[in-house]
Amino acid sequence: MAIKVKIRELAEKRGMKMIELKNQEQLKNAIKRAKVDRKNLLVQLTSIARKYRVVNRRNNQVYDVIFRVNADGKRYGQCNCRAGEIGRICKHLAAAAALNTCLAEQGLLN
Ligand SMILES: [Zn+2]
Repeated sequence: MAIKVKIRELAEKRGMKMIELKNQEQLKNAIKRAKVDRKNLLVQLTSIARKYRVVNRRNNQVYDVIFRVNADGKRYGQCNCRAGEIGRICKHLAAAAALNTCLAEQGLLN
């Protein structure tokens, strides 16, 4: 609980936009772009659950990706890249979501 609040505060402080992950078409396209670029996208864990660091090895850019699930089950994500800042589901978010889903399925996020 404390961690969830902390992540939200962190995100809001940085003016980052939480994107509801409900647009299947956008998600599908982001996953497609992440797959195309999979050799360049390195997803790293951080010390905070549901927060990841995504490195684009092509240009050495590093992005922070954060996920959140609300009590009502709505899923949100955000990335501090330019696409993420305008509320679009980006390839970084898609790449990190793969790892996040994997950890969640193993019960490692609670
Ligand atoms: Zn991004």
